[in-house]
Amino acid sequence: MTRKITLLLLLVVMIGTTFITEAQTNSLAKAQQVTGDRFKIRMQTPGGANVYAVKQPSDEMIQAIDDGLADLLAVARKNGYRRMLNAGSYTIFIAKADRDKNASGSYSPDIAIGAAQYAGTDFDQGGYIYVAGMVISNNPMSFVIAEHTKDFNRVRDVVRYEGEHLVLYHNDRRRYMETRDHSKGGGHPILQ
Ligand SMILES: [Zn+2]
Repeated sequence: MTRKITLLLLLVVMIGTTFITEAQTNSLAKAQQVTGDRFKIRMQTPGGANVYAVKQPSDEMIQAIDDGLADLLAVARKNGYRRMLNAGSYTIFIAKADRDKNASGSYSPDIAIGAAQYAGTDFDQGGYIYVAGMVISNNPMSFVIAEHTKDFNRVRDVVRYEGEHLVLYHNDRRRYMETRDHSKGGGHPILQ
């Protein structure tokens, strides 16, 4: 009897592992498709978050990711949310920046993505838009940001902001739907 239960548990664990691996592979494929980058480096931050990167991330990038997640989880708890509030549930893709400066000439490493729902708005740069970050997958939770060489407070903010969409998806679906894209205005921070 015990042996049967053990085997059953083992089977459940194995199936569970397969699903997780498959879902993670899917978000990796999507991140590569969206950015056109190959994420060859895989690591964990000291805070426990999963990171995929094009090249070895700097200590400052890693620290900014952990700080941004800490900000996110703190403000999520403050709002009474409880689900998916551990750093280990988050995967961050660090992509190569497609530009270093914004239109006004300030340092602003961003990623170019297809304009999709932003077509025709002020964001539209002719079929594509520049974004600081973008959610890749709500489940498992993952988003992409651009590699920075300075202004790491911006990284910290972007991590917190992209994470807001994920926290809302898992904790407050109505608020998630209201804030999921910014084509009709609205921005970050969402959570106060
Ligand atoms: Zn957003």
